[in-house]
Amino acid sequence: MYIVMASAECAPVAKAGGLGDFVHGLARELILGGHRVEVLLPKYDGLRLDRIEGLEKAYTDLWVPFYDQGFPCDLHHGRVDGIDCWFIDPHSPQEFFKRGVIHGEPDDPDRFTFYARAVLEFLYKSGRHPDIIHCNDWHTGLIPVLLFETYQALGLNRTRVCYTLHNLGHQGWVGEYVLHQAGLDAQRLMTPDRLADPGNPHVINLMKGGIVYANYVTTVSPRYAWEIQTTEQGMGLQETLRLHDHKFGGILNGIDFESWNPLTDTHIHHPYGPGSLPDKAHNKTALRQRLGLAQDNKPLIAVVSRLDAQKGVELIRHAILHGLDRGAQAVLLGSAQEPVLDAYFRVLKRETDAHPDCHLELAYDEDLAHQIYAAADIMVIPSVYEPCGLTQMIAMRYGVVPVARRVGGLADTVFDANHSDKPFEERNGYVFDDLTPEALESALDRALGLWFDYPEYFRQLRLNGMAMDNSWARPARHYLDIFEYIRA
Ligand code: ADP
Repeated sequence: MYIVMASAECAPVAKAGGLGDFVHGLARELILGGHRVEVLLPKYDGLRLDRIEGLEKAYTDLWVPFYDQGFPCDLHHGRVDGIDCWFIDPHSPQEFFKRGVIHGEPDDPDRFTFYARAVLEFLYKSGRHPDIIHCNDWHTGLIPVLLFETYQALGLNRTRVCYTLHNLGHQGWVGEYVLHQAGLDAQRLMTPDRLADPGNPHVINLMKGGIVYANYVTTVSPRYAWEIQTTEQGMGLQETLRLHDHKFGGILNGIDFESWNPLTDTHIHHPYGPGSLPDKAHNKTALRQRLGLAQDNKPLIAVVSRLDAQKGVELIRHAILHGLDRGAQAVLLGSAQEPVLDAYFRVLKRETDAHPDCHLELAYDEDLAHQIYAAADIMVIPSVYEPCGLTQMIAMRYGVVPVARRVGGLADTVFDANHSDKPFEERNGYVFDDLTPEALESALDRALGLWFDYPEYFRQLRLNGMAMDNSWARPARHYLDIFEYIRA
């Protein structure tokens, strides 16, 4: 099959979060299965060029319409871990992709409207006829709309679209003007059954457009699929999703079992695996040394997270302070985009800086993230909502016991050591339901109690987590089934 993936991110060259890992992991698995995959990305100025092989300008003078005019683009081609990637480089006065960031700019609607149009214009002008365009999140919501409203009539009529929702917290609520930018008929599209936002008929909802027009819609875990259809987690799209239920399903993401493998991970100090679990302790010693923590017989609680309201920031803070009270050590690696949240954690860092058992690193640091997974005993993930979550899967792969809130993909992957309908060998962590300090404490205290009093049983929980198959093999097969099903 010939699959084009459209996304704002692809790890490791353009990654802001789990979306980047998703595209990279799924693309690699599809290629392993013998399929032809091309990933189309904006050519951001912050691309990790050192991770792109053979980057060269390979297609020039692509004219991409925008409003009544347009901009010329060059396309650069290169390979990222064996994945064919195309990078779209517009020569526009707005310098859409030269902002030092992937997203979060005030004119994101314009930037990604342009990107969506450029993707289709490139496929059309270069004579490509993919079987599937796999679109992701609101940035690409206009692609199925443009395909079926505009490009199908121009000859792109064999291509079908699968659209994956990674986070309904960002739906692309934009003004009608973007439809004019994209050359679409605003009057026809601003209707309740098409792109009008369910909460405000004067606003365009790009994610809704993607849902309505795609041939199939997925989200990143079965539990999140249920939550967004039936609870306020749908953030206004519940009814749209129920209406399109016949073409909607949840598929749990995988993680890249090659880059996240404690036996071969080059970022960490000492390799280890299920058969050599005691060696994990060397990594704990090394991390303590690196971060200036005391070398004591204490459990290490970790948080590796974007510091966003979605991640349960108050409970993250509470877990650190409560863990320290209970005689544990705590490490946080996180970065906040919101200035208030950044300030919130800077205050906590000042409060805990002198503590010999606590270190907060307010940064994005891939290398340190690996070392924390390798060193930690317990990973705290108290998300308000969590479409899938990779952190708990990576943690388990590294023998870290997750303490997680039972929402979204966390509910599909973390099974409580004491209260679960799973057999013992599938239990791998501790879960709690309520978004309260007491609920978090009840789970965290059980994990700490086990570490202190029943180390043998704690070791078994680690091994249960390490034995879970959260690789991309199964989800990729599931995506292929969907692609086959919708293929023309
Ligand atoms: P989200 O996509 O909502 O950020 P996920 O759990 O799906 O959350 O994915 C988070 C990914 O980003 C994981 O690979 C995690 O290790 C990584 N990550 C998060 N914060 C940081 C950070 N500050 N430094 C390095 N890696 C981080």
